[in-house]
Order: sequence, then structure tokens, then C-alpha cells
Amino acid sequence: MATITRPGSLRNPEVADLFEREDPDRVFDDLREIGHGSFGAVYYARHVTSKEVVAIKKMSYNGKQSAEKWQDILKEIRFLRNLRHPNTVTYRGCYLKESTVWLVMEYCLGSASDIIEVHRQPLREEEISAICEGCLSGLAYLHSLGKIHRDVKAGNILLTENGTVKLADFGSASIASPANSFVGTPYWMAPEVILAMDEGQYDGKVDVWSLGITCIELAERKPPYFNMNAMSALYHIAQNVAPKMSSPEWSKEFQHFVESCLQKNPPDRPTSARLLSVGTECNWNLLRTLLIQIEKWEL
Ligand code: ATP
Repeated sequence: MATITRPGSLRNPEVADLFEREDPDRVFDDLREIGHGSFGAVYYARHVTSKEVVAIKKMSYNGKQSAEKWQDILKEIRFLRNLRHPNTVTYRGCYLKESTVWLVMEYCLGSASDIIEVHRQPLREEEISAICEGCLSGLAYLHSLGKIHRDVKAGNILLTENGTVKLADFGSASIASPANSFVGTPYWMAPEVILAMDEGQYDGKVDVWSLGITCIELAERKPPYFNMNAMSALYHIAQNVAPKMSSPEWSKEFQHFVESCLQKNPPDRPTSARLLSVGTECNWNLLRTLLIQIEKWEL
């Protein structure tokens, strides 16, 4: 039988080992809020002695369903601290103070979603292609470990100062594949995730679907069905033919890439590893112009 521990308890040595002992308010200063999510805020901060700039996601487990929140936070920490790949955000440590977990990560300039907000126009094809390459490389790594991200969208794809793409936000991720729970953000969810409760299980290909939706989001600034409420969107994703790019002006290669990601039947959809090797064969355009622009923006 699973042991029920009090939220915030460090009696279990495995849990205690996840946290540094110092007071995080003494370790970091110059905190400034840079992002917001369902768990709380993300801050820019500076390490007091090394002066290294980091990002800190503060997650409180206070209030209702405190025990579940605590378990979800531990799950996210365990997931992130075990990842080691150039295209997944780097873990830098974890602290606990006053019912709040401080999850410290490498600092990124902002998300692909921030870029389309600031830019106020869709991205160019080479820019989307560079984001897809980094994202696919991170996904192929996760999938090779039998893990699934389950929340791929522009808001969870971050970019560093030197233009490296980093997959972030592992709060919804699954440590095992296949999986069967209803998890993700509705507009980006694969049909088989929506139908999982009726029809069984899914694997890493759900992230490939979400990447296809993210391409449409980056190209058109919104994912398909975004004008609908989430419930209607879920119904349409499950019942309708797969969405397509609405403008015919994108290259045939790009349209074909999005179409491959958005195959409704999972066996017809390529794996992340397959898409990555195809992309590498056609020599992905790495994107310099976007990087220069990002450096100028105050995201
Ligand atoms: P959601 O409700 O979307 O699941 P969340 O509570 O899980 O969000 P994150 O997605 O991890 O939180 O972070 C929220 C936002 O904070 C991101 O969209 C991004 O803008 C910013 N952010 C997160 N991590 C970093 C980082 N390492 N560097 C810079 N900004 C970050």
C-alpha cells in the first residue's frame, strides 16, 4: 500500500535528497517575474555569489488539494532533474521555503509564444523550421527514454540567448509510454489522447501531433479551433478531418511536414526520430535572423 506523506514532509530520504538545504532568499537575488503558469510565477534571478542568471519556477502546494499538488511538484522535479539533452531545459536545483518549491533552471530569453506576441506577425518558414528541428531533437530524446512530454505548444518551447531551442514545462509529462490519461492543453491535444479513455493507449506520437499544431500556431498565430471553447475544440479534433495550414503560400515541403504530423491515425504518423532524420537529410535551415531579432527584444 502506498504511504501517504504530509505535503512538504522531507522524512523520506529520497524526497529530502531532491532539495538543497540553504534558504533560497539568501542564494538568489534580483528576482523579477517573467512568466506565469497554472502553478504560479516564473522569475528571472541571479545567484548571489556566482552571479549566474537563472529562471526560478515557484510552485506553492498550499490550499485545496495540497497533497496532490505536492505529489505533482515532486513528479515534475524528478522528471526534469534526470534529463540531459541540449534541447531540454537544464535543471539547476531545487529549494523549499514556506510551502513553496523553488525549481531553478537555466534562464531562457522567452518562449516561441512570446515571440509571436512581441513580433505581432507570423514567423517565417525558416524560423519555424529551426524551432521544429530543436523541438524534434528534444522530443526524439524523450521518446527514446520511453517518456512523453504531453504539452507541446509554443508556450512550452523556449529559446536561449544563443538561439538554442529548449523544451520546457514537464508538469504534464509521462515517465512511461504507452500512457492513457487525459492530459495536455485542449487545442494541441492529439485525437488519441482525447479518445484514450474509450479506446486505450497512446505513445510519443501524441507529441508529434502537438508539434504539427504548434507549426500552425507559429504560422497563423493561433492553433486551429482557438475561437471555440475548449470542449467544442476537443469534439472537433476527435471527429473532424485533420486541420491544415490555411494559406497555400507556404512551401510544399512545409505543408507536407505539417500534414505528416497531423495524421489522425497514429500508425500513419511518423515518429519524432523519423521526422528528425528526414529533416536532417534535407538540411534544416538554421535560423540566424530570428536570433538577432530576439537579442534586440526585451521579452
Ligand atoms: P502552464 O500553465 O502553461 O502549464 P506552468 O505553470 O507549468 O504553465 P511553465 O510553462 O513552466 O509554467 O512556465 C510559464 C512561463 O514562464 C513560460 O511560458 C515561459 O514564458 C516562462 N518560463 C518558464 N521557464 C523558463 C525559463 N527556464 N527561462 C525563461 N522563462 C521561462
